[in-house]
Amino acid sequence: MAAEPIIRLAGISKTYKTGEIEVHALVDVDLTVEKIEMLAIMGPSGSGKSTLMNLLGCLDQPTSGSYLFEGREVATLQKRDLSALRLSAFGFVFQGFQLIARTSALDNVALPLVYADVPVEERRARAKEALARVGLAGREDHTSAQLSGGQQQRVAIARALVNRPRLILADEPTGALDTRTSVEVLGLVQSLHKSGITVVMVTHEPDIAAYADRLVVVRDGRIQSDKTQVPHDAVADLAAMPEKAA
Ligand code: ADP
Ligand code: MG
Repeated sequence: MAAEPIIRLAGISKTYKTGEIEVHALVDVDLTVEKIEMLAIMGPSGSGKSTLMNLLGCLDQPTSGSYLFEGREVATLQKRDLSALRLSAFGFVFQGFQLIARTSALDNVALPLVYADVPVEERRARAKEALARVGLAGREDHTSAQLSGGQQQRVAIARALVNRPRLILADEPTGALDTRTSVEVLGLVQSLHKSGITVVMVTHEPDIAAYADRLVVVRDGRIQSDKTQVPHDAVADLAAMPEKAA
């Protein structure tokens, strides 16, 4: 028997109502993602990418359709089970990092564990371990102001990892980074994917989408194309790139 897909969307629609106006942000979307995949989603601004990510991460509910996460229908979950699922299964990474200012990298990374009621000693140990995993051992006490953009995004990825998620949802994770730093961050994301975490990433840069092994293009709330591809290797690309000028 084939393994259960991690994500199975069937006939998913999302309509926003603002006064008299209805916006059909997603229209009858079918999408299945297997556990072993790293998926990139591309599409013009306003095509429904963030709406799709919010639904996948259970931050919002569809207007209609079915979302099975690891075989469980999300719509039938009680509020409590839904927030437990969010805390244990998903890691979120955003374009703007969304770190808390004047707060150490360690405390930023440990924050999701506060919501998950993990005791303080274990929080610190796991945050430290997550920071080491993204190459920031020794930077635990640095605040955002003391870190580069790439390092801040690594802190944000460590925060996404600290719950040991099965799915990482990244919305424009390299949107605020230069090319070389973007490829470095993608190298990290590829290594997490290789370690067994499913990745769904929104990007508007074809060069970044090239690091995924599947590319879905959305347009006007519908899936326009869906193709597997041979991913570029970020570590190899990085080795071939010129060093940043000092
Ligand atoms: P993308 O991320 O691809 O730029 P979005 O998913 O953010 O697109 O938006 C898709 C459509 O839904 C757009 O027309 C947008 O204006 C609309 N939209 C998104 N969020 C809301 C909301 N909370 N209320 C009303 N309309 C929204
Ligand atoms: Mg968006």
